[in-house]
Amino acid sequence: MFDSLTLTRLPAEAEALRAPVRAFLAEAVRGMPPEQRARSWSGFDAEFSRALGARGWIGLTLPTAYGGGGRDLFARFVLVEELLRAGAPVAAHWIADRQSAPHILKFGTPAQAAFYLPRICRGEAFFCIGMSEPGSGSDLASVRTRARRTATGWQLEGQKIWTTNAHRSQYMIALVRSSGDAGDRQKGLSQVIVDLSLPGITIRPIADLAGDSHFCEVFFDGVQLAEDALIGAEGDGWNQVTSELAYERSGPERIYSSVVLLDEWLAHLRTQREPSEASLALAGRVLATMTVLRSLSVSVNARLTEGASPVVEAALVKDMGTTLEQFIPAAIADALGDDPDAPLPEGLARTLRYVASVAPSFSLRGGTREVLRGMIARGLGLR
Ligand SMILES: Cc1cc2nc3c(=O)[nH]c(=O)nc-3n(C[C@H](O)[C@H](O)[C@H](O)COP(=O)(O)OP(=O)(O)OC[C@H]3O[C@@H](n4cnc5c(N)ncnc54)[C@H](O)[C@@H]3O)c2cc1C
Repeated sequence: MFDSLTLTRLPAEAEALRAPVRAFLAEAVRGMPPEQRARSWSGFDAEFSRALGARGWIGLTLPTAYGGGGRDLFARFVLVEELLRAGAPVAAHWIADRQSAPHILKFGTPAQAAFYLPRICRGEAFFCIGMSEPGSGSDLASVRTRARRTATGWQLEGQKIWTTNAHRSQYMIALVRSSGDAGDRQKGLSQVIVDLSLPGITIRPIADLAGDSHFCEVFFDGVQLAEDALIGAEGDGWNQVTSELAYERSGPERIYSSVVLLDEWLAHLRTQREPSEASLALAGRVLATMTVLRSLSVSVNARLTEGASPVVEAALVKDMGTTLEQFIPAAIADALGDDPDAPLPEGLARTLRYVASVAPSFSLRGGTREVLRGMIARGLGLR
């Protein structure tokens, strides 16, 4: 089935974006410590997002009529690759840019597109993903949060969890049960856009191991939504959410979560008169693997550009990408441990400490390793 992926090069027009973005970012992240840059797509900075929006670099693939750039996914790949390489704090607009805006364009009404997309492009409307619930993570089809029809729209009851940046976003696209019960699984699910400032919504941030509070519990208690909160067709939520996940799982962020650490370590190696053979071999191994994964990610982008929904291929990129992202901090720690008396730059030590502490989450967020491998096995006809 993977013969649908063909080796694809980034077109020259897309590559042309690299130099201006790189020049902008060199200024924007100047003086930012590496452990802060290592947070990158977990680093929230609304002002940075608005500056990016002012340059037309949010919503790059959206139609110009909605304030977007009218470019293709390859141009976005170059932009995103540069943002992550620099360790820019992109979290504020990340989810809206990556998946909520294309989702609204694909499934929303023209009125919804006209309302949300221009503000997303300006870096003024931030979105979060309301999929997971207590007891419904991997088993997403068992969601219990319920949207009941009322005379004027919908009433929302239930709870979401692990919702990245719910406490700093204006909107959530939530997967909810609009008919039947949890036993009906994929049937009876819908998606609604929730204005997070509405009465009846309580948002509680959760601290992670590194002390950051980026994800949240979100409670809905009799929240009144208007009729036009529904996105797409009622009852089609499962199909819609599945297509959203192809955007979520295939991008360069599933390869580059440890790239700032890698760069810091390579910079440290360059200061040594004679880096160890083992360190050089490790650097070669990591860069070779990263090059192959990058090609795979570009090829999945090509499928998305053709209008396909390559969910299994995207699962493959994410599984292999997060495996590399987790290997990098462990292998660098081992390599540095081979020479425990050598002086270690403070920035490298702090970055390693941060990345090592959050690395376990790389293969949880966006769908766990085991679940992705199950999907790949199904794609190969093995299940
Ligand atoms: C940093 C971070 C950010 C997140 N952001 C968001 C967000 O913005 N929005 C959102 O909706 N969710 C978010 N999540 C939640 C994430 O999608 C879930 O944690 C994930 O899907 C796993 O669900 P769970 O936590 O309920 O674990 P469970 O589903 O209970 O899984 C526990 C373990 O059992 C394994 N397992 C489960 N089912 C199977 C199976 N059938 N076969 C084999 N093994 C299995 C899993 O692989 C895992 O190792 C985030 C998570 C993290 C860590």
